[in-house]
Amino acid sequence: MTQHEDIFKKIVSHCKEYGFIYASSEIYDGLSAVYDYGPYGVELKNNIKSYWWKAMVQLNENIVGLDSAIFMHPKIWKASGHVDAFNDPLVDNKDSKKRYRADTLIEDAIAKIEAKAEKEIQKAKARFGESFDEDLYRTTNPRVVEYLSKAREINERMNSSLTNSNMEELKQIIIDLEIADPDSGSRNWTEVRQFNLMFNTQLGNISGEEGKLYLRPETAQGIFVNFLNVQKTTRQKIPFGIAQIGKAFRNEIVARQFIFRMREFEQMEMQFFVKPGTELDWYEYWKEKRKKWHLALGTPESKINFHNHENLAHYANAAVDIQYEFPFGFKELEGIHSRTNFDLKSHQELSGKKMQYFDAEDNDSYIPYVVETSIGCDRMFLAVLSEAYCEEFVPDAEGGEAQRIVLKLHPALAPIKCAVLPLLKNKPELVEKAKQIMSELTSTFYCVYDDKDAIGRRYRRQDALGTPYCITIDFESLENNSVTIRDRDTLAQERVNIKDIEGIIQNKVSWKNLL
Ligand code: ATP
Repeated sequence: MTQHEDIFKKIVSHCKEYGFIYASSEIYDGLSAVYDYGPYGVELKNNIKSYWWKAMVQLNENIVGLDSAIFMHPKIWKASGHVDAFNDPLVDNKDSKKRYRADTLIEDAIAKIEAKAEKEIQKAKARFGESFDEDLYRTTNPRVVEYLSKAREINERMNSSLTNSNMEELKQIIIDLEIADPDSGSRNWTEVRQFNLMFNTQLGNISGEEGKLYLRPETAQGIFVNFLNVQKTTRQKIPFGIAQIGKAFRNEIVARQFIFRMREFEQMEMQFFVKPGTELDWYEYWKEKRKKWHLALGTPESKINFHNHENLAHYANAAVDIQYEFPFGFKELEGIHSRTNFDLKSHQELSGKKMQYFDAEDNDSYIPYVVETSIGCDRMFLAVLSEAYCEEFVPDAEGGEAQRIVLKLHPALAPIKCAVLPLLKNKPELVEKAKQIMSELTSTFYCVYDDKDAIGRRYRRQDALGTPYCITIDFESLENNSVTIRDRDTLAQERVNIKDIEGIIQNKVSWKNLL
């Protein structure tokens, strides 16, 4: 197991042990790729949603919110292209009976070839030292050139097969590259076929195709079909945006990697309606703006990447992923898409209702173009947790060292803002004082009260939950109304007056530090 895989495993078990995330239906052995958020998970998730909502809606006069229903008229998914084109290429291994996404198998094979080139480059770098010219080596060393051009050629072949829905060609690439099942090593593959990712269900009293409903695979369509309602009722002028947070459902073929790829998940999406021709400027604008949102949390810039899409979805004229370096590598966290006027135009055609905006300045009516920012709340949760999880050695009470697990979460996101700890639970005076402090703080922050175990163990428990402050009520508190306040990151303990606690915490956890 690599060090990164090891950390990922630890994060997964930490989530369960400390009440962040449980497998769904666990007593029945779980339901694949579906998860439940525990008491601290739901707090952290709500804080992530608040951070997004405040940054998008509260701080932008021209962005307003929406909460549309999960069920929508089935024609919506026809117009959006999801009925015909929301497919992943699926392939089964006949021996292991395991199911894979054909494009993922090919991408992994490409990554292996690229890794070979990288290895050659690193070897040369070590050999030549300071004088090494990497760019020159990449373009002149025969072996490196061969690997890189092979990787490029396969990538192009795969992208064109995906664009043209050519499943035979995808299978042929798997054969040509001699790709084996990563699990069993078998090369005994079925044909590659298209698999629609939408879940469907049936409307109460209507049988057959007529009553077929889909669970939405994205929240965006609820925004598109309400675009004129919202524009008229809020009197917004273009450019303006509509933001929504809500559940989405995808029948993913392969759902591994914990909450990274789920079958039921939550999206935070914003559709920004713009004048045709200006969409690529706005696309650049939102790319930068969203990157800053991620960096404000303290994530190092080296762990956030832009990755341009080569294989554009049916609706887009430009698309980029904001990737984060998860413990299992750089992967998509958020998508920024220039969706053209595809969706509004399709809805206008299929519904027969005008989806046009009257631009009073230009005295002209048009179907707006749309730039979308779309981020998975659960994926963001995993990114935040991966970044925060830290194992370190700290001084212990005996002058030695002790290992602790600490979640170095941004204080504004931390599930619990402060823990109130009476030094001893069998001293009524201490308990009474602690309860008094607790009841004063709970109307402002989510706090917890804990009187079990030795104080050191209680601190460790709060570290593992990411609580920025612990307040300890001791005998001196009874004499002069002071308490100690312990900082999660510096471990410094300061003695402060009880009346100052709220201000100190507020200062640290305020949204102003993030927005
Ligand atoms: P991927 O390539 O990983 O399947 P996608 O390109 O299909 O993702 P989008 O349709 O752009 O994803 O969805 C926007 C965002 O929703 C993604 O960036 C991701 O954060 C989140 N998301 C998509 N699918 C899932 C899923 N199955 N589980 C959790 N989050 C998801």
